[in-house]
Amino acid sequence: MTVEQLQESGLFEYKLKRSRRRKTVAIKVQQQSVTVYAPVGAAIEELEGWLVSKSGWINEQLYKQSQLLDTRQYLLKDNRVLVFDQPITLVYGTGTRCEWRLDNNQVQPTLQLNLSRRVKHQHAMYQSLIEAFLHEQLESYIEMRVQQYCIKMAEALPSSIRIHTYKRRWGSCNRRRALTFNLLLASAPHTIIDYVIVHELAHLKYLNHSAAFWQRVGEFYPEYKQATTWLKEHGAGLQWVIE
Ligand SMILES: [Zn+2]
Repeated sequence: MTVEQLQESGLFEYKLKRSRRRKTVAIKVQQQSVTVYAPVGAAIEELEGWLVSKSGWINEQLYKQSQLLDTRQYLLKDNRVLVFDQPITLVYGTGTRCEWRLDNNQVQPTLQLNLSRRVKHQHAMYQSLIEAFLHEQLESYIEMRVQQYCIKMAEALPSSIRIHTYKRRWGSCNRRRALTFNLLLASAPHTIIDYVIVHELAHLKYLNHSAAFWQRVGEFYPEYKQATTWLKEHGAGLQWVIE
């Protein structure tokens, strides 16, 4: 069994995972977050001392990963944005007000982005129109799937569903049964979004990553290992920024 908690050292926030089977201490830095694996009995002062001695390496990894996020693999190359893994061509224009319009009735779907002539910061406004569009697409998909999965999992509906842009989490669930999802998921395939939904809904029963939790995830989403691997490999690339 593994016990997991969030720790705040003077240097950085890290997740501490204690396990009975573990004899040594190890660190993993992934997606800009630090996880420390330790034996059950390891004293926190000793762990912190050890972390201080490793802080140079840890900070270097964190820095490298933040650079990775900043040199995003722009999805807007060729003026296209990925929506549920499908490319949509962007068409920029002007109009009486700022709005987006999706034309799906073509071989190549297009998203028309219109700016009112009064807009000063055009890049920022195009960006927020794209975000508004993606937000709506993702929200309606998630709302539909949450309802379906809640029936399958015999789980009451969450108290709320919110969508934000996060740097290093795909979703979250708290004691008040409020779920959040990362807006960047709008570019991921439906199957990956389904995994994040099942993951968060499983947290309604288990607010941890225990074996029982993963068993529940596996029951309703058997290929969860492939999905977590996909997110690790492609997660940093799910960005849309107009350059
Ligand atoms: Zn989780």
